[in-house]
Amino acid sequence: MPQSAETVLDYARLFREPEYQEMFARKKAEFECGHPDQKVVQIGEWTKSWEYREKNLARQALSINPVKACQPLGAVFAAAGFEGTLSFVHGSQGCVAYYRSHLSRHFKEPCSAVSSSMTEDAAVFGGLNNMIDGLANAYALYAPKMIAVSTTCMAEVIGDDLQAFITNAKVKGSVPQDFDVPYAHTPAFVGSHVDGYDVMVKGILENFWKDREHVHTDRINIIPGFDGFCVGNIRELKRMLGLMGVKATVLADTSDQFDTPSDGEFRMFAGGTKLEDVRAALNAKATLSLQEYCTRKTLEYVEGKGQQVKAFHYPLGVSATDEFLMEVARLAGKGIPEQLRLERGRLVDAIADSQSYLHGKRYAIFGDPDFVYAMARFVLETGGEPVHCLATNGNKAWEEQMHTLLASSPYGKGCNVWAGKDLWHLRSFLFTEKVDLMIGSSYGKYLERDTGTPLIRLTFPIFDRHHHHRFPIMGYQGGLSVLVKILDRIFETLDAESSETGTTDYAFDLTR
Ligand code: SF4
Repeated sequence: MPQSAETVLDYARLFREPEYQEMFARKKAEFECGHPDQKVVQIGEWTKSWEYREKNLARQALSINPVKACQPLGAVFAAAGFEGTLSFVHGSQGCVAYYRSHLSRHFKEPCSAVSSSMTEDAAVFGGLNNMIDGLANAYALYAPKMIAVSTTCMAEVIGDDLQAFITNAKVKGSVPQDFDVPYAHTPAFVGSHVDGYDVMVKGILENFWKDREHVHTDRINIIPGFDGFCVGNIRELKRMLGLMGVKATVLADTSDQFDTPSDGEFRMFAGGTKLEDVRAALNAKATLSLQEYCTRKTLEYVEGKGQQVKAFHYPLGVSATDEFLMEVARLAGKGIPEQLRLERGRLVDAIADSQSYLHGKRYAIFGDPDFVYAMARFVLETGGEPVHCLATNGNKAWEEQMHTLLASSPYGKGCNVWAGKDLWHLRSFLFTEKVDLMIGSSYGKYLERDTGTPLIRLTFPIFDRHHHHRFPIMGYQGGLSVLVKILDRIFETLDAESSETGTTDYAFDLTR
């Protein structure tokens, strides 16, 4: 065997050795019962056609690689943004392992969450005992300041009532009567992680705001929404607010929880919105959401409490950041500081400098509704054409917002908006209506290999590249960072296409 103590091969190289290649070929021949290679190639080619695209679009009862996660994952992410808060997911243990691993693989940080470990007996008789024991264990073992409860499919299918269960658990002494245990039902068979985020933030606000009246102050609340770039983005948000001299409470501040230092101390809980600030946030004059589709129910609740509310679509780039900052300035009665004006001008300058490469580039964009909206808006600002905009968890309202956005620019003409479609649909679109670049998550790498469309990783989850989330993509500075990522990919592609010695290298230029 090629593997030995002297030569330890990484699996990527090891499996190319003859012994493994022979084993793979034998397994394929003996166990896979596959079709002849020629037939596989023939069908593969057919799946690139318009005929197959029509059949693919007619598909109804099956999703293939949907661009979304389930509700409780969003709830676990939201809960991580509050001081000393432990996520407790009522339901099956395997589901919670998935949320933890999904978040850890993206942030390269540990993600703590516990489950009530429901199994067959709880599925038949209900999970009350699991809740009673689970809350007691979680409280005793991990000493959180708050336990935020959400649910998996299993608990929702049998109809477990969280409010009654938590009340019962408190009566049984699992946690003190006055201990904060906000909750949110997060049925995973409807909606997506953005809805889970929404109901968990709402649940936490309700926990602290119930039976209290709004007393007006000049503070502002900001809810960032589900964001794989939260570490860089929330810090950038605070920097901009600091420059403006605006006092704001970031509700669900996940920036420290997913970026703990290596200094010999394990922090199960790091940073997060202080619980006293959540309580005080009731009295803010306004709550702004950076992502409409992550906060629809939350903002409805906040408005009902007497605050002004406004939602944005992941403000990045020039006009979206302008809009956000102007609203903050209006609410806070502040001006836009010179520093931010300069940053804006520099972003505009950078876009202008690279115009000859950006103009007319065609894009496919996939991800959550607000992210896709934001990227399409920025692409239009650069003179690019967002040809395919896809959000599996998008709805009719989002489609209409997208069409309005696209109609606002000559570069948006003829662009497609795909709500409810998945990455197998996108594969058909990329073969039949080609684009120059694709913006999305790591899941796009299979489409990149299949269709040859260069991928720019700019949204959750990014598993196969490291540390991108530590840098902002919101605001003017974030826009600059996105611009550089786009341009790098354009230049890398251009270099790769013009590197054949003596044939295409007349364009393998040092200066671009
Ligand atoms: S969809 Fe349901 S079963 Fe699957 S991970 Fe989410 S909660 Fe668990």
